[in-house]
Amino acid sequence: REDPNQALYELHNQAARIYHTVLTSTEEGVRAREYLLERGISDEEIDQFNIGLSLSDQDFLYQSVKTRFEEDVLVNSGLVTFAENRIFDSFRGRIMFPLNNEFGQVIAFSGRIWQPDDLSNKQLAKYKNSTTTPIFNKSESLYNLNQAKPVIKKTHEVYLMEGFMDVIAAYQNGISNAVASMGTALTAAHVRRLKQLTEKFVLVYDGDAAGQNAIFKALNLLEHEDVDVVRVPEGLDPDEYSKRYPDALAALMVNSRLAPVEFLIDYLRPENMTNLQSQLDFIDLMAPKIAVVQSLTAQDAYIKRLVEILPDFEYNQVEQAVNLRRQNVIEE
Ligand code: ATP
Ligand code: MN
Ligand code: MN
Ligand code: MN
Repeated sequence: REDPNQALYELHNQAARIYHTVLTSTEEGVRAREYLLERGISDEEIDQFNIGLSLSDQDFLYQSVKTRFEEDVLVNSGLVTFAENRIFDSFRGRIMFPLNNEFGQVIAFSGRIWQPDDLSNKQLAKYKNSTTTPIFNKSESLYNLNQAKPVIKKTHEVYLMEGFMDVIAAYQNGISNAVASMGTALTAAHVRRLKQLTEKFVLVYDGDAAGQNAIFKALNLLEHEDVDVVRVPEGLDPDEYSKRYPDALAALMVNSRLAPVEFLIDYLRPENMTNLQSQLDFIDLMAPKIAVVQSLTAQDAYIKRLVEILPDFEYNQVEQAVNLRRQNVIEE
């Protein structure tokens, strides 16, 4: 029997084709491609990621597909909005990034503003995502997973990034096993799916404060997994970093990896390190993180690292705190 969502898939695929054609062969598309090119995205990436453009017109998409789809399919897709006495496209005047499922079918879009008027309009969200539909749930979907999957299996690791532009920048730097969530934090569902493909996770989030907080949250979710952390310098995100330092992104992602505990020592380190209580709190936070590390040699190194920055504590005191946590780990 036919999949009841077949028409929804078909509509999304046709919409992606239409958006892509608009980008590659209209007047507005010429200007949008200039914006993309300024961001380092050329025709090759436009094709590879099937990037498109939604026109600023009220209902260009609707007019292009209305004879081929039932009204309830159009409504359910969220791509078209039916108001009381008018119908309009939900995405207008945005650069369109299609999201595929693992069979390569288009299931949703994220659209980015790009026109000067829109960029200076503080009311407009930079990115707009498809709404939840029968074929799309953003807490389960990962951008680029369909293309990255074979490479994840082959290299036995996956890079997790924050944005589409970061995934595309990684691709331009020869790294094609990167995925991004759709503007949400990493979820247990994402982790469950990725664990079916690999055991190794590499976090390459933005170098700003928000990105560092996101790393911390992701580490809690990935507590029992094999994880490396890459910190992007100077508060940049991976895409910005690759533009500022051409050819440096791949080396950063491959060679500048931190163990979670190294990241946490830096992230959780109190500002006032001379205060005895903040040192004790810091030890309390770090001890359980060190206690779960498999290698005792690594535990020893981390304890030494901590002692180096703690003015009032010695090795055996920190080790004792870790040992106490180790007992707890064993009893659990
Ligand atoms: P760009 O480089 O195009 O500015 P970005 O990926 O660097 O995009 P961030 O601000 O770092 O953008 O946000 C990370 C991700 O969060 C985006 O890729 C997008 O998925 C999502 N996001 C960002 N801003 C918004 C927004 N206003 N509404 C919805 N999602 C957003
Ligand atoms: Mn960010
Ligand atoms: Mn970013
Ligand atoms: Mn960016």
